[in-house]
Amino acid sequence: MIKKLLPKLLIILLLVGYSQSTEAQLFKKKKKTEASKPEAKTKKGDPEPYDKVITKDAVTDSGLFDVHKVDDSHFYEIPDSLFNREMLMVSRISKTASGIGFGGGKINTQVLRWEKKPKKVLLRVVSYDVVAADSLPVHEAVVNSNFEPVLYSFDIKAFKKDSLNPATVIQVDELFTKDVQALGMPDRLKKRYKATRLDAGRSYLESLKSYPLNIEARHVKTYNAGSPPSNQSLGSISIEINNSMILLPEEPMKRRYFDKRVGWFARGQVDYGLDAQESKTITFLDRWRLEVKDEDMEKFKNGELVEPKKPIVYYVDRATPEQWVPFIKQGIEDWQVAFEAAGFKNAIIAKDPPSPEEDPEWSPEDVRYSVVRYLASPIPNANGPHVSDPRSGEILESDINWYHNVMTLLRNWFFVQTAAINPEARGVEFKDEVMGRLIRFVSSHEVGHTLGLPHNMGSSVAYAVDSLRSESFTKKYGTAPSIMDYARFNYVAQPEDGDVALMPNIGIYDKYAIKWGYKPILDVSAEDEKSILDSWILEHAGDPMYRFGHQQVGDVVDPSSQTEDLGDNAILASEYGIKNLQRIVPNLVEWTQEDGKNYDDLETLYGQVLSQYNRYMGHVSNNIGGVYENHKTYDQEGAVYT
Ligand SMILES: [Zn+2]
Repeated sequence: MIKKLLPKLLIILLLVGYSQSTEAQLFKKKKKTEASKPEAKTKKGDPEPYDKVITKDAVTDSGLFDVHKVDDSHFYEIPDSLFNREMLMVSRISKTASGIGFGGGKINTQVLRWEKKPKKVLLRVVSYDVVAADSLPVHEAVVNSNFEPVLYSFDIKAFKKDSLNPATVIQVDELFTKDVQALGMPDRLKKRYKATRLDAGRSYLESLKSYPLNIEARHVKTYNAGSPPSNQSLGSISIEINNSMILLPEEPMKRRYFDKRVGWFARGQVDYGLDAQESKTITFLDRWRLEVKDEDMEKFKNGELVEPKKPIVYYVDRATPEQWVPFIKQGIEDWQVAFEAAGFKNAIIAKDPPSPEEDPEWSPEDVRYSVVRYLASPIPNANGPHVSDPRSGEILESDINWYHNVMTLLRNWFFVQTAAINPEARGVEFKDEVMGRLIRFVSSHEVGHTLGLPHNMGSSVAYAVDSLRSESFTKKYGTAPSIMDYARFNYVAQPEDGDVALMPNIGIYDKYAIKWGYKPILDVSAEDEKSILDSWILEHAGDPMYRFGHQQVGDVVDPSSQTEDLGDNAILASEYGIKNLQRIVPNLVEWTQEDGKNYDDLETLYGQVLSQYNRYMGHVSNNIGGVYENHKTYDQEGAVYT
């Protein structure tokens, strides 16, 4: 019954819609208050003619959906072709009161789908935690138990009748100004600060911007709160939230399955479609979609390097001080050698963003652009978060946040670890080319994270301590086989050793890991890739240059996967390190002094000496009662834990 009625209803609706638009034109010249009378026939909430909703005063930002602002109201014009397409919603706290922690932290990631009903548009949540392939009978059962909850329901305000690109208009203000749990302050924070009611008077939509593949919303929410993190007397807490809604690719990328023996950022989901007697969590890599162009297929198969269909491009923020830009760019393109091991040339490229004259629309918020952002903030750090497609692991975008005070951190490390053998490091301010080299090193390390690589703390142990004192060895191999270790600067080398290398480069492990994760395996399903991937691991099994050791949180169990250590023997390495500290201490005053300056720098660097000494002692004491971990499969010789 209902099925038969629906088309009729639709026709009636369309007719009503049509007659209204002619009516609207007839009455156009009259004042608004008078014109409102003849419409009394239409029920409140019914769609109105397009130009009555999106008036000529509308300010329009075109993009994925056109976003219209009419007075204080915001409308999405959703192209009908985008209904039922999957979109990724990433929510972050963009600004907070002090005490909550710095902005930018992700609070929620969800896959959403816009669905059109005759009078409503629904925003539904799609779960990707539990799946089964479409073609399997079990798919239906999974769909039923994964019934997609409705996040929000919108009345349709108007239809755009365009024979080529019909669209549907909804008003979205309340999605952002009301307390919609999935897009707002997370429950755990509400509990912590005893946040109760949302104060509508102090909550508002700050901005809504549309780009070709994403829409960025910023809204401020104020809650009455029993124990706010700051400004106790206010009795409330305000946060600004940024929701990025990103169109997911129509065709998900082929997955590459994760293996513990190679370090990789990976995501898991429960799959009921696998040919196994139990449901299984499967994990696959987060990685960029690097594909071979059709016309290059033969070359690629013959082992020639080819350029990928779409290279990875990083833009260096315009706010970056000019003298550091070339070094950050070098750090990015240093990874090209690793992609060559995966069969690609020019796979990763650094660029300047276009000037506002060249492209006024260009913005780091646009999901099509990955940007190294330079933030004037006292946080001494850099980080490289990325956004990826939960269906396939495809990295869609990544921004590296570079905080100004990274430089302080680098100065401290470089001083305390190398000043004994390196005149360039003897001072509180380094020459630009010295700092630039350190910036290039950090840039490479952070880019490594955005390519999918986590820290490999088990890398530096591959080198014999005495090799780190050799000019020829360190110049060829750096100070560790991976730039993803916390193997900072060469504290082992002694003054008599000559011109040794002081830091790691993109090393043997990095090239191997990038090949393992990125080399296209043609004409084979993700499932069938597994045996090939396994063989790539077995080629180097047992070779410490190719070992992955994960970062240990809390107490160190495996002394061969420590942070900030070097070489295969902590006792010997620490002895050399302490000898170097003993060379630094008597010179501290001289290396920091400047007329008219107080002793703050001396205090800071003396503190650095002490903590470095503690680090050396820790590297040694962690060997007592330690257990080595080397991941293996059944077919490999030997135990995992020794
Ligand atoms: Zn890191």
